Amino acid sequence: MIRAYKFLLRPTARQTVVLGEMLRDHRSLYNAALEHRRTAYRRAGVTVRYGEQSAELKAIRADDPDGQGRWSFSSQQATLRRLDKVFAAFFRRIKAGQTPSYPRFKGSGHFDTVVFPKDGDGCRWDSSPHATQARVRLQSVGHVRVHQHRPVRGRVKTISVKREGKRWYIVLACDDVPAEPLAPTGALVGIDMGTTHFLTTSGGAHVANPKFFATVAGELAEAQRHLATFPERTRRRTKAHRAAAKAGLNRTILDAGWGQFLRILADKAESAGRLVIPVNARNTSRTCPPSAGGCGHVSANNRLTQAKFQCTACGFTANADHVGATNILNRAGLALCDAA
Ligand SMILES: [Zn+2]
Repeated sequence: MIRAYKFLLRPTARQTVVLGEMLRDHRSLYNAALEHRRTAYRRAGVTVRYGEQSAELKAIRADDPDGQGRWSFSSQQATLRRLDKVFAAFFRRIKAGQTPSYPRFKGSGHFDTVVFPKDGDGCRWDSSPHATQARVRLQSVGHVRVHQHRPVRGRVKTISVKREGKRWYIVLACDDVPAEPLAPTGALVGIDMGTTHFLTTSGGAHVANPKFFATVAGELAEAQRHLATFPERTRRRTKAHRAAAKAGLNRTILDAGWGQFLRILADKAESAGRLVIPVNARNTSRTCPPSAGGCGHVSANNRLTQAKFQCTACGFTANADHVGATNILNRAGLALCDAA
């Protein structure tokens, strides 16, 4: 299994300065290589490739021993490869008949990562294994303290140093990470993801929204209510338009949060030897749940409010999210039978 670990770095004041220089120099290398490709193409219609640019690194380093020459050769190659990938994507899109914009220069806030493709080459994870404090050694930066909040398993393959605002992080990509399977329980659970609660299980348990999420979800509900006060034909007018834009933005934020949760869930499940079955959630909160004694009737009117479900056909009553989770569990079971 492959896994990434992200840890906060605790550089000294001097190391912070040098890290900033490392990032700055990698950014100028990226921009210079981009400029090189642009000029060659404009003047002579020539396409410059990664191999040629990488071959020039030696001279660039020799000409600038206190600047570019300080950094790991391999990390500089990784930066050139990164540009190469951008160009590959650019040409792929042209080939597909699209009109992508030409690859851009990176401004200082838009280049935040230096990659070391191989542990031990310009960088060394766990550089002081006998100390209680974890450290990573980075070429020309030194041994940087790492806030290692969890153990690292598997074999460290690549190491990335990343700036986020004023903080610095290290990301370790590991392979051969051993799975940690849990004993089978035979238990199944349906999970409904929503806005009132972050999630509800088919067992009826609710997990509250993270605080930030709750704010966004609350604003979404309000924007939707506000939007509903405008007749359909006036929706294009400013106020309604603004409400729609706000609702759309919040929706995107929530979707991103759910997506992140599902990725973590899939990871954990794989490691623990569990199965996650995504199902189409369409109508799951509008269907009177047959697996819980309901009649199977589907109607938007079954959902009286955000929280309350009451079947208009048979009178079955329950919490709406719980109904959703119950139907999701049922669908997952059916999908499992189909697969078998
Ligand atoms: Zn019913």
